[in-house]
Amino acid sequence: MGKRVAVVGLGTMGSMTLWKLSQQGVDVTGFEQFGVGHDRSAVGGESRLFRTAYREGPEYVPLLKRSRELWRELEKESGNQLLTLNGGLTIDRANSDNFKNVLKSIYDYQINHEVFDIKEAVKLFPQHKFSEEDAVILDKESGFLRPELAVVSACYLAEKNGAEIYRHSKIDSINQKDEKVEIKSDGKVHEFDEVIVSAGSWVKELLPEFKEIIEPRRIIMSWFIPEDLAGFQKDVFPVFARTTEKYDFFGAPTLDQSMVKIALVGSDEPFANPNKLEHNIPYQEVLNQTEIVKSFFHGINPDPVRLSVHMDAYTPDEHALVGRIEDKSNIIVLSGYSGHGFKLAPIMGEIAAEIVLQDQTQHDINHMNPNRFKK
Ligand SMILES: Cc1cc2nc3c(=O)[nH]c(=O)nc-3n(C[C@H](O)[C@H](O)[C@H](O)COP(=O)(O)OP(=O)(O)OC[C@H]3O[C@@H](n4cnc5c(N)ncnc54)[C@H](O)[C@@H]3O)c2cc1C
Repeated sequence: MGKRVAVVGLGTMGSMTLWKLSQQGVDVTGFEQFGVGHDRSAVGGESRLFRTAYREGPEYVPLLKRSRELWRELEKESGNQLLTLNGGLTIDRANSDNFKNVLKSIYDYQINHEVFDIKEAVKLFPQHKFSEEDAVILDKESGFLRPELAVVSACYLAEKNGAEIYRHSKIDSINQKDEKVEIKSDGKVHEFDEVIVSAGSWVKELLPEFKEIIEPRRIIMSWFIPEDLAGFQKDVFPVFARTTEKYDFFGAPTLDQSMVKIALVGSDEPFANPNKLEHNIPYQEVLNQTEIVKSFFHGINPDPVRLSVHMDAYTPDEHALVGRIEDKSNIIVLSGYSGHGFKLAPIMGEIAAEIVLQDQTQHDINHMNPNRFKK
């Protein structure tokens, strides 16, 4: 008989893992404390940026290239459009480390791109207000993903392939017992050969070894109304990530034909308890968003018309935790994607499936070793 496998948490990484395992005929069961595609953790907010030129480190580029193939596979199987490659701008001072890192990953991995000086950028991207020191890279292999549709599509396909999903089913504990893993939910005990814990910020509750390592952080998304929507369509307004002296922010074109998303990165402190995500937004946050739009854009009404609150799990070095929690353990963790994991979701599903079925992965994920923080 084949292995019985459980996936705890069917958000971003869990849904893709369930899909990948079910594709290979594995007897797999998924548990999700909320509904599938819910917006209470790291999914939600209409779009996610897909960038190939990567400031977080060039080691991500091969992973991103494979991920892109898998996004296309998920699109083909589901019939849904999930990834739109409309190009992505990096806007920063030309002499900054961030700008140099992005350029390095572009040259090292021959990513299709163009670099513009300010004169050219002003003509091509009139929606942005540039300063004299800025320079612009257009990564032509970037774009945006549809997060809710992606998660629901992966779970739907997994169920079609025979996976079982327990919705609204919170797992209370996970324990290795000899060769098996016991998980408890609502007083019931389930036993599996392998358990993948893709529980986002809740990993700190389920796996005590990561309690001090995983930090939930709140991320607020905001949307604004442009004066003329024609300038903010996907063909003329690439996704962008911009760093200025005071703010780090990113955005996407209009998807609903009424507003554009522009969101601030890293304005929130970590908080201890993932069950206590604060949905109330301090007014200063709204004023910061307004200042960003006034200072860095033309033709957008500076008051946000829609705001939404989400969270992601961060690690100290902002690389994820991926792999067996100990050498011989039958528990595999996938967490800590630190605000940049969505684009990697299908390759993370592939990696988890490889670890379960072959006990190793063909992909280089040394920088995500879950034991690297152990003293
Ligand atoms: C607002 C925002 C914007 C972002 N923008 C980008 C971007 O542009 N590009 C990009 O690549 N990345 C982006 N990210 C990061 C990316 O979305 C996350 O890194 C990724 O979604 C994390 O996935 P996850 O599977 O670890 O967590 P989640 O998707 O949160 O999944 C965890 C799941 O586990 C479930 N769960 C937890 N505990 C239990 C339990 N005990 N029992 C059962 N179920 C449980 C939760 O309910 C949840 O569904 C962004 C993140 C946020 C929040």
